[in-house]
Amino acid sequence: MLTLLKLLKDGRFHSGPALGVALGVSRSAVWKQLQHLEAELGLSIHKVRGRGYQLAAPLTLLDPVEIREQAPTCDWPVFVFDSLDSTNAEALRVIERGQAAPFLVLAERQTAGRGRRGRKWVSPFAENIYYSLVLRIEGGMRQLEGLSLVVGLAVMQALRELGVSGAGLKWPNDVLVGQKKIAGILLELVGDPADVCHVVLGVGINVNMQMTDEVDQQWTSMRLESGGVFDRNHLVAALGTTLQAYLSRHQVDGFSAIQAEWEQNHLWQGRAVSLIAGVNQIDGEVLGIDSQGALRLKVGGVEKVFSGGELSLRLRDDS
Ligand code: ATP
Repeated sequence: MLTLLKLLKDGRFHSGPALGVALGVSRSAVWKQLQHLEAELGLSIHKVRGRGYQLAAPLTLLDPVEIREQAPTCDWPVFVFDSLDSTNAEALRVIERGQAAPFLVLAERQTAGRGRRGRKWVSPFAENIYYSLVLRIEGGMRQLEGLSLVVGLAVMQALRELGVSGAGLKWPNDVLVGQKKIAGILLELVGDPADVCHVVLGVGINVNMQMTDEVDQQWTSMRLESGGVFDRNHLVAALGTTLQAYLSRHQVDGFSAIQAEWEQNHLWQGRAVSLIAGVNQIDGEVLGIDSQGALRLKVGGVEKVFSGGELSLRLRDDS
């Protein structure tokens, strides 16, 4: 099915017989595959008698060669998949198989893309990026401190470089434009953080997505923000470069060197929020973060510090 898509991705007309010859199948088999492409990948294909078949819009697929050319300093192997359950899940399997880190897993779509606490990340085919960069960390609890916040900053920076000037951060690790979510980050760790471990930096960015009814909170995409179509290979390259720069700063100087920059870009700095921890809710005002990336809230006139992967922030109506 994807071989057919690769023939059609130029957005031109291709006749049924020509596609049949290229694929080595009958015309009716071509027809069936076209129906699958529409049903399974949500693509729209024009069918015009006498001319053949044409994708409604040309498609650029992820290409490791192009990514490497545009980000020559990112010399990690890049594994691109047409479809995965989740790039983080695949990254964990690849670590298990003994692949040396760093390496990058990308997919055109995820059938079980994941967010925090088992929530779903909506991941349609060839519209967005689903990105998992694996790092090996040795004896470095310090290198894990504030790491997901550092990844957020790198994602925000890459988005701004490509023209999404309104991108900002929401603690702990969302990238928003205004109140709308444009990117999500999920770090997963295997091994012993006090000795040797691998950390998967999972990033989903909405790039060209224009429509979905599946996301149950306000969202946006680079295209919706700017009106233009983005080259996802270019974004992957830009993200690799910003991640490399922030990760090396974090490794050398620790999170405290990045704390002020993170706070400057925190969209909810000074806002009245509710911090949700399971069934518990704490109301307060955002003071900022500490040198380890934990959230500092003023609660009842007193500063309190919160950290942990199970916490969610919500703006209060009166904020
Ligand atoms: P919280 O708001 O509680 O901090 P979160 O926003 O950090 O949670 P994540 O676990 O990062 O949540 O992401 C999962 C949530 O993101 C989903 O529950 C859904 O609301 C939203 N979501 C899923 N897919 C997308 C997408 N493609 N774009 C934007 N938001 C999405």
